[in-house]
Amino acid sequence: MASRFSSLSKSNTELLHKELRANYGSCSEIELDRLYHEFKSEHERLKVFLDLQRQDEDKRKDILNKLRVAQLEIKREERAAYSSMSTLQRLGSIFSTPKQLSVEHDDAKRKVSELHSQYMNLKNDRYSTEVAKRKKIYHVLKVLSELREEIKNKRVRSLANASIGKARSTSSSTKRKHISQTREVIACPYCECQFETVDMVLDHIYPIAKGGLDTRENTVLVCKQCNMRKSDKTLMVFCNQMRLDHSKVFDRLLKMGKGI
Ligand SMILES: [Zn+2]
Repeated sequence: MASRFSSLSKSNTELLHKELRANYGSCSEIELDRLYHEFKSEHERLKVFLDLQRQDEDKRKDILNKLRVAQLEIKREERAAYSSMSTLQRLGSIFSTPKQLSVEHDDAKRKVSELHSQYMNLKNDRYSTEVAKRKKIYHVLKVLSELREEIKNKRVRSLANASIGKARSTSSSTKRKHISQTREVIACPYCECQFETVDMVLDHIYPIAKGGLDTRENTVLVCKQCNMRKSDKTLMVFCNQMRLDHSKVFDRLLKMGKGI
């Protein structure tokens, strides 16, 4: 089976990377880490097939050499048989083919056909599927590393901004993602009071002013009072100040898929 990825041209590689970016671009940092390590171990596991494919290739070359030698041998035997035949004919013998040579000739022919089938067997690339899969995973890993690097850089920039007092306000896109949900009553994850979502605000769990990111994982809808009281404090400081059981708060946030 021909591999779809074994000989990717430059533009095909770009297309594949674009496709992969579309697939993984919206993943969170945690998800990217998890995917990266999963694919990495799969990539490692599939290495054995690449080695097996190489071994097959070596065996194939070896058999091909033997095949050539055996074919030469047949030709030589054929020539010998012909010359003895013509000798016998010249001597006027009416007894037909030289038996011994004919048997040897058949053996050599059998050997050639055996080698040939061994060669064909190895020619059918037994590991191409796995090797192609590994090749694709290589590109997945490349894109995942790029995405992880981009998130890391974003955090560094965010930290740099925070340190020079340029804390960004919540981007409207993140806010929209949360507010676009239907109007419903939910509990504030900090104080546990019930509020309508429209009356809640987006809080950065790890404060933007301290380098927190404006991501889905770092933002959560909370009641206005908690948001105001928490301000630029970290969650731990806020919990202590409000006498909230921080392990319960952490637990609630983790269950919502938030990072703390
Ligand atoms: Zn609250």
